[in-house]
Amino acid sequence: MTATPLVVLENVNKHFGELHVLQDINLSVHRGEVVVLIGPSGSGKSTLCRTINRLETIDTGTITIDGQPLPAEGRGLARLRSDVGMVFQSFNLFAHKTVLQNVTLGPLKVRKTPKEQAEKRALELLDRVGIANQAHKYPAQLSGGQQQRVAIARALAMDPKVIMFDEPTSALDPEMVQEVLDVMVNLAKDGMTMVVVTHEMGFARRAANRVVFMANGQIVEENTPDEFFGSPRTDRAKDFLSKIL
Ligand code: ADP
Ligand code: MG
Repeated sequence: MTATPLVVLENVNKHFGELHVLQDINLSVHRGEVVVLIGPSGSGKSTLCRTINRLETIDTGTITIDGQPLPAEGRGLARLRSDVGMVFQSFNLFAHKTVLQNVTLGPLKVRKTPKEQAEKRALELLDRVGIANQAHKYPAQLSGGQQQRVAIARALAMDPKVIMFDEPTSALDPEMVQEVLDVMVNLAKDGMTMVVVTHEMGFARRAANRVVFMANGQIVEENTPDEFFGSPRTDRAKDFLSKIL
């Protein structure tokens, strides 16, 4: 039994030119924990997610995944990056590949999993997200909600230690939001470690262990969902909540 958090950010700073987009970020995510990251547009939420799998570099500070500092580059980076799954607002599926091919691509190329095994596992994952019967279709033949569920299955296929979700339902028609959130709630129940950028407060209340509120590149407030939504401590959080609730 180890209490070392799975993801640790210590004194992380990042600039985009003059903009100090991440300011002394300290954040730990424990195994099995679901952290919801919320805050106004432009506060640095996406950048924070992207630094955790080095889609963005940082200026100073350290990021550790499962006890391993994120290396700057090379094979170690590729391996650690595959420990961190990403699900984006815009699905980012390969349009010219079938659903099944989208899900097996990472295991085949990065993990060198044998094809038969990769396909068997992909079908299990597609079943888990409720779309096994769509495996041989192309992304454009699916609804947005179905495409995002493929993206989740694709992330799971790499057996990540943690999955970052960056506004996974923001691009969806309203009637498709719930089917994606339901999949995410089930993942949370199954013990997946998740960092979720979302303004879906119902999800936060159902699934989050902790809400982290960011504004202007800083973590302003961290609390349980009940405490955060019920009695936010800072004016910035109160102001933000008054606009979205
Ligand atoms: P959020 O996800 O909270 O809306 P972002 O992390 O996307 O915020 O962006 C934070 C700030 O950094 C914004 O002001 C944005 O314009 C800026 N930014 C994001 N990406 C880049 C980039 N690649 N180059 C320059 N500025 C960027
Ligand atoms: Mg964003």
